[in-house]
Amino acid sequence: MENCVFCRIVRDEAPAYFVYRGHGVSVFLDIYPVETGHMLIVPDEHFESLHDTPPRVAAKLFAVAAALVRILRNELGAPGVNVITNSGRPAGQEVFHVHVHVIPRWKGGGWRRLVSRHRLTEVEALDFINRIKPYTGIIEEYLNNVFGEGT
Ligand code: 5GP
Ligand code: ZN
Repeated sequence: MENCVFCRIVRDEAPAYFVYRGHGVSVFLDIYPVETGHMLIVPDEHFESLHDTPPRVAAKLFAVAAALVRILRNELGAPGVNVITNSGRPAGQEVFHVHVHVIPRWKGGGWRRLVSRHRLTEVEALDFINRIKPYTGIIEEYLNNVFGEGT
């Protein structure tokens, strides 16, 4: 998709802070995080939203989400995490390339308070990337476990 911002990020035509890339899936930081460490999981291939995403690709997105929740809770000490996908404009979808939000909740507020956003800063992004990078092997483990090596 020529003008899709997430396709452009995946093709390295637009910048992003990547947490993980592999198995046809990319994880990068949301540019307007609800809280520090707000990540987006996207398939490298373009699908509009969850209803037209093939089951295997959808399953990959949520396997990665589960791995990220484990990393955030067990390794980075996040006391809570939201996993969300917005499917369709009435649900709040703004970027029509399917994605799953993984949002560590350091402060709280629950799912009703997902709007207190700020512009991601470089210092915040690099600090979080440095903290999570040592654990991204867990994402690979999850994907290998469910889908097999290199799939
Ligand atoms: P949606 O409302 O579609 O579920 O969420 C889209 C998300 O993508 C929003 O949280 C928004 O901040 C994020 N976003 C939009 N454009 C960009 C971009 O160019 N780069 C990054 N990293 N995130 C973006
Ligand atoms: Zn796209």
